[in-house]
Amino acid sequence: MNNKIPLSSPQFEFSPELQRFLLGRRLLLNEIPFSKEDIYWHIQNKYIAETPGLRRVNKRWLCQRCNNRISRLFSKFPCASCGRDCVYCRNCLMMGRVSECTSFYYWTGPSLEWKAGSHLQWEGRLSKGQEAASTAVISAVRNKDELLVWAVCGAGKTEVLFDGIDEALKLRHRICIATPRTDVVLELVPRLQKVFPSTEISALYGSSEDRHLFSPITISTTHQLLRFHRAFDMMIVDEVDAFPYTFDESLQWAVEKSVKLRASLIHLTATPSRKWQYECRFGKRQFIKIPARFHRKPLPLPRFVWCGNWQKQLANGQLPYPVVEWTEKRLKLGKQALIFVPHIKLMEKSLSIFQKLHPAIQSVHAEDPLRKEKVKMMRSGETPILLTTTILERGVTFPNIDVAVLGAEDDIFTEAALVQIAGRVGRSSEHPSGDITFFHYSRTKAMIQAMLHIDEMNKEAWRAGLLDE
Ligand SMILES: [Zn+2]
Ligand SMILES: [Zn+2]
Repeated sequence: MNNKIPLSSPQFEFSPELQRFLLGRRLLLNEIPFSKEDIYWHIQNKYIAETPGLRRVNKRWLCQRCNNRISRLFSKFPCASCGRDCVYCRNCLMMGRVSECTSFYYWTGPSLEWKAGSHLQWEGRLSKGQEAASTAVISAVRNKDELLVWAVCGAGKTEVLFDGIDEALKLRHRICIATPRTDVVLELVPRLQKVFPSTEISALYGSSEDRHLFSPITISTTHQLLRFHRAFDMMIVDEVDAFPYTFDESLQWAVEKSVKLRASLIHLTATPSRKWQYECRFGKRQFIKIPARFHRKPLPLPRFVWCGNWQKQLANGQLPYPVVEWTEKRLKLGKQALIFVPHIKLMEKSLSIFQKLHPAIQSVHAEDPLRKEKVKMMRSGETPILLTTTILERGVTFPNIDVAVLGAEDDIFTEAALVQIAGRVGRSSEHPSGDITFFHYSRTKAMIQAMLHIDEMNKEAWRAGLLDE
């Protein structure tokens, strides 16, 4: 501990609150809302242990929180606590500074258990595809296995988890559902609370208030997992392929270190990486597929429509003719649509041109301060057509829409992104179909792979008897 604490402290005793707070976490001193004396007493009595914040490995620094070992992501600062120029990690600085002279504290005392019992209260029914996946999840929980649930967009993957979570609760497991996105955390909490009404659920994301809760179920952004260490018996990672999880190794590491050495690890996604798809194909990864949607109708296949040099046309204040035609048709029919555009600048440029077709056409992007309001207006039907960057590629569901991609050949539209975008169409049982068009100037591998991916899922669903027609 960097600050000396007087040994002649007043009488202390074992603190269940501290136990509840620290169990399964690894935190800096200033992240633990208890007095230093209190913490020190628990260290002396071997309830809490201490480990350095940074380590030297092969003459290089290694951050014990985010696993960063890239030299340029470490800096020095004049440190008030050690009085020297102190090295710190820049990679996880936004979570509080980890420097040479800081330590992490973690619980080594007795563990906590909650009462076992049945918890799930859900009257719904699973589709045939969901049921097979649900059984596989239960078995992964019992055997503490790793499992990939590869479910098409609209398969209903959350319901597939219910029985597995129930089983884990009966086994007194500590459960975590992690997702890269705060929106998804906020959406999952009420859904799970509804079906597990008597189970405490805590939500963790950037500015959340539940940080101090030790509960059987934790729903967290992958980012917040960096504060956990060997905490969970069951880890569910939702949307594994979603940005920034795939691009940020420290987040994958956060998942690894936050689970116990023996734990069940469930990955959920509609679009596994190429590497994972390969591993599945060659028996190197345990997986279960749900190739059909819960409403038993096939996934709409994208149409490829060549639209010439659309960027040049935009620069001239015009939209490609096929795009105008597509848009006018939706406006006339009164069918809502999303149009994906690769970059904000291009979107802003095209908005004014689209608005000549209909003044109520709107646009939205990740940093848009009115993002929530605009999605709401789309939901209420006030907005006929919404232009968007890839932020609406997943998570958000509108019941009856058509979707277009303008410039589908752009690098930002990977196979996974295009499959997810196509997955916005035909989600509800009332409107199980719709149009998905990729407007392009050239064809990319990603476009073709996305098309084959969707087609293959439909064929598999057909063979497995999961489709009605
Ligand atoms: Zn770090
Ligand atoms: Zn220092």
